[in-house]
Amino acid sequence: MNVIEQAADVLQKAKKVVFFTGAGISADSGIPTYREKLSGIWTGLDPRDLETAKAFRENPALVWGWYLWRRLRVAQAEPNAAHLAIPRMAHSQRQVSVITQNIDDLHERAGSSNVIHLHGSLAMPKCFACHRPAVVFPDQSAVPEEGARIEPPRCLRCNGRMRPAVVWYGEDLPSQSWKAAVLLVKDCDLLISVGTSGIVMPAAGLPDLALDSGASVIHVNKADVAMGEQKELMLIGAAAEVLPMLLEKISEGR
Ligand code: ZN
Repeated sequence: MNVIEQAADVLQKAKKVVFFTGAGISADSGIPTYREKLSGIWTGLDPRDLETAKAFRENPALVWGWYLWRRLRVAQAEPNAAHLAIPRMAHSQRQVSVITQNIDDLHERAGSSNVIHLHGSLAMPKCFACHRPAVVFPDQSAVPEEGARIEPPRCLRCNGRMRPAVVWYGEDLPSQSWKAAVLLVKDCDLLISVGTSGIVMPAAGLPDLALDSGASVIHVNKADVAMGEQKELMLIGAAAEVLPMLLEKISEGR
């Protein structure tokens, strides 16, 4: 049995499967990771200078413009074959959940429901002052041109500035999402980690937690990121190629 067949075998037998996804899965939809140097009009800016509370306090219009531009990029992107394969792996005897570090909505648009967003979401902003989420997306007449400085709209309740509801550098993960993720991982028989860098803590500890809880772990990544544990399998390749292959294997065997 080759490694993809072994992975299909483990998946076939699993009743509770958790997908844990990172930037690598959205990269196949053309969404850059923004962890590296920025290009185009953003050249010279570091994401770390745009994604902190300090940056927002000093230049809210720059940070809001960046957020609207990223929203636009995501709106123009489409879920890829990897996003689409995930909900199709669920059936009456197999529960499939998604925990993502991504702030886009490509899993939801591919048909996954109840997606846990560990690093927040671009979908709806929240108030910088009172932290309450926006009820509807604020009316934004300015077209989010790349590099545009756009003054953030105000909170309808306290008149504070709206900010992206994503986790910035130096901020904690939303505690409810994190707790829900830990419960799912402790309870699963299989965790499939897709396109995660394995460096952004504490999220990167979830595959370890799955192994410690007795589950199997399958990594799907362009680089070998396995830790050499017995219940680990490493599938090297692009998520948009590997996950449809896995889906096909388990569909054949059904
Ligand atoms: Zn407010």
